[in-house]
Amino acid sequence: RIVSGESENMDEQSLEQSLRPQTLKSYIGQDQVKNNLEIFIEAALKRKETLDHVLLYGPPGLGKTTLAAVIANEMGVNMRTTSGPAIERPGDLAAILSGLEPGDVLFIDEIHRLPRAIEEVLYPAMEDFCLDIVIGKGPSARSVRLDLPPFTLVGATTRAGAISAPLRDRFGVLSRLEYYQEHHLVEIIKRTAQIFNTEIDAAGACEIARRSRGTPRIANRLLRRVRDYVQVRADGEISFSLAQESLELLQVDQLGLDHIDHKLLLGIIERFRGGPVGLDTIAASIGEESSTIEDVYEPYLLQIGFLQRTPRGRVVTDLVYHHFQLEVPNN
Ligand code: ATP
Repeated sequence: RIVSGESENMDEQSLEQSLRPQTLKSYIGQDQVKNNLEIFIEAALKRKETLDHVLLYGPPGLGKTTLAAVIANEMGVNMRTTSGPAIERPGDLAAILSGLEPGDVLFIDEIHRLPRAIEEVLYPAMEDFCLDIVIGKGPSARSVRLDLPPFTLVGATTRAGAISAPLRDRFGVLSRLEYYQEHHLVEIIKRTAQIFNTEIDAAGACEIARRSRGTPRIANRLLRRVRDYVQVRADGEISFSLAQESLELLQVDQLGLDHIDHKLLLGIIERFRGGPVGLDTIAASIGEESSTIEDVYEPYLLQIGFLQRTPRGRVVTDLVYHHFQLEVPNN
């Protein structure tokens, strides 16, 4: 059983890998970011230089990791991947940096979670491609400068505001990924369906796209669940009505809001009279982490105008009352 579990996991991983577009051309949507990158990459290739450091920011699941791999591929170099919380000591970062080949892309996910002491090691590495290492302790300690191969740092974060100014200033390219438009999500869903060998009609793809919160990762996840449902209940093409039925069963509503969004919004209405209420108080009242609400749930609710941030806390808007068919309070 353990063996089969592992191989299933491998299958999932290789499937996930096969869903990732490899080139800027096959990367759907985010046109402005893509157009800029295309120019910067072409210019760097023409000059036979490494690409300037790139910071990608935006809500989770919009394709930051995918885009980092696309950048490495378009530059014709390898990508090394790590994340902010994984680098605990300056030595960890020094080991990664000194192991890079010239031109490589170093991808650091959740870069806002890098400890400050490590950020400081990164500054000379980003600016001058060198490392300042302190050898020895006390009065005999001395600093040695090590040269590094030129590399491109691609940092990803869901919280651009949490990155310190000195680190942010060392990125030459800052790109914000936006929620995807519905027609781009439809394209992503059709592409994924093709990779899965699953038949889907245009209305079925639109219905899944509409409920995907502008996020490719959610679109791909919903498509998988709808595919399961159709395989068991209907065995045929994914149509509008089958997509609708299965998404209702998954408790994903017409706007893509799930039971946690519902709990959050209705919680603010029922317990805090619509707000304002602080993030920590909401989190405690629905049993979720504040950071999960702030990073995962809230950005989309702010985007569709269901929540507002005020200095005194979060407030639900009239749209929420309309969505749940509740009477809008007078005040
Ligand atoms: P996180 O920062 O939380 O890791 P992310 O923003 O890096 O998320 P990815 O893991 O890159 O997101 O993408 C999530 C999924 O969406 C992947 O399976 C990828 O195949 C798909 N995807 C993302 N962007 C696109 C795109 N532009 N075109 C096609 N598929 C995409």
